[in-house]
Amino acid sequence: MITDQSYDVVIIGGGVVGCATLFHLTNSGYNCLMLEKNKHLVSEASAGNSGMLHTGFDAPLGSLELHCIQQCQLLIFDILNRLDLPYNRLGATMVAWDSVQMSKLPIIIQHSMREPNLSRNATGAIHIPGETIVDPWLTPIVMAEHARIRGAKICTSALVNNVEFNDSNRTWNVYTNKGNVGSKIVINCSGLYGDIVEKIAGYSSFKIKPRKGQYLIFSKTAKDVISSSILPVPTEITKGVIVFKSVYDNVIIGPTAEETEDRHASPTIDSIITTRLRNYGKKTVPSLSKHDIVHMYTGVRPATENKDYQIIARPDRNWLTVGGIRSTGLSGCIGIADHILSQVKDKFGIEPSKSCWESIHKVNFNFTKNGTVMFPHGIEHLITHPLTFTGVTRQTISQSNL
Ligand SMILES: Cc1cc2nc3c(=O)[nH]c(=O)nc-3n(C[C@H](O)[C@H](O)[C@H](O)COP(=O)(O)OP(=O)(O)OC[C@H]3O[C@@H](n4cnc5c(N)ncnc54)[C@H](O)[C@@H]3O)c2cc1C
Repeated sequence: MITDQSYDVVIIGGGVVGCATLFHLTNSGYNCLMLEKNKHLVSEASAGNSGMLHTGFDAPLGSLELHCIQQCQLLIFDILNRLDLPYNRLGATMVAWDSVQMSKLPIIIQHSMREPNLSRNATGAIHIPGETIVDPWLTPIVMAEHARIRGAKICTSALVNNVEFNDSNRTWNVYTNKGNVGSKIVINCSGLYGDIVEKIAGYSSFKIKPRKGQYLIFSKTAKDVISSSILPVPTEITKGVIVFKSVYDNVIIGPTAEETEDRHASPTIDSIITTRLRNYGKKTVPSLSKHDIVHMYTGVRPATENKDYQIIARPDRNWLTVGGIRSTGLSGCIGIADHILSQVKDKFGIEPSKSCWESIHKVNFNFTKNGTVMFPHGIEHLITHPLTFTGVTRQTISQSNL
């Protein structure tokens, strides 16, 4: 049960955005609690992504999304280094397959030497340095554990079902199935359920329009077929299907972008999509077809009717909406958290109740044989992201099962 305590900040949602916010605000001296409805952190949209730190090459100029991604690019590498988290800054090769796509590439440079296995049918390509792969599960989990070591509280299996603002002392009561807490500010980082949580606070600024993505993961024997991420020319809707390599050397094809009503990621991928992705792999990097597919997964993006992030400060009631972080939540995570910090200070005028920490320290952890990771003080996390799980275990499915 949650004890009836009071915090500077309550964060609703333990996805990548909630974890990065908890990390950054705790380091800045705020007394924080993060509430997560599921048994495990990072188990919704953040458990089905590609693990790429994009540089913002297709984010609209002047958008909040681009601002947060660029800010994240400035801050994240020092954090990853200090936390000793894996990343590969391999860059990406954006490939045009016809004259229409070619005309969208601003500068064309031939990169045949850089990607010798790329199909000869490509029309042109540009290299995007700085595109980086991280462990998409470990990164937010270690940030959350770093915050916990510094006094932040994390409560899982705690569904926020009501909130109430008290005008007289300007604080929130947050009600969950595990008890109630008080807070000066509430930050709604509930991702795929962002609109539902907004409604319980009396707001309706956007509607979640789930967008599904599906992937195939190849065996590590394919690790040398690419040396950078192979991106198609993006459209208005999606960055398109990418051929990329995880930090654990699995080559992956995906994600698709399919509108759906369902906010849950299904555990299996559609057979038609499997064929489409295999064919895409064959067309893009023909030698990939010689390698086994060892796993498949799906994810659901918290898209809305708006293209940009929906970060809305409501200083009259100390409520901060952080929604619609559709397809770059990992890429923007620390930039989003930094934007949130400035909103809390400047728009809400709320100062931290503790002193700020000067530095970031490595958090010790060990992978176990059970698909979990052990952290200090006996804290155990189940690995919920298939890229991490497949990368660190030997789980395989045979080609005949596809
Ligand atoms: C297919 C796909 C590919 C992607 N690729 C990339 C990529 O390569 N790079 C990148 O940067 N981004 C990528 N993204 C986007 C990225 O995954 C999202 O932007 C990010 O996960 C959003 O994080 P979030 O914390 O806002 O949401 P979520 O991960 O959905 O987290 C919200 C959390 O809030 C909890 N919650 C909801 N309601 C309540 C409640 N009432 N009480 C308590 N808790 C609640 C949920 O259980 C959930 O854990 C991709 C996404 C998908 C699906």
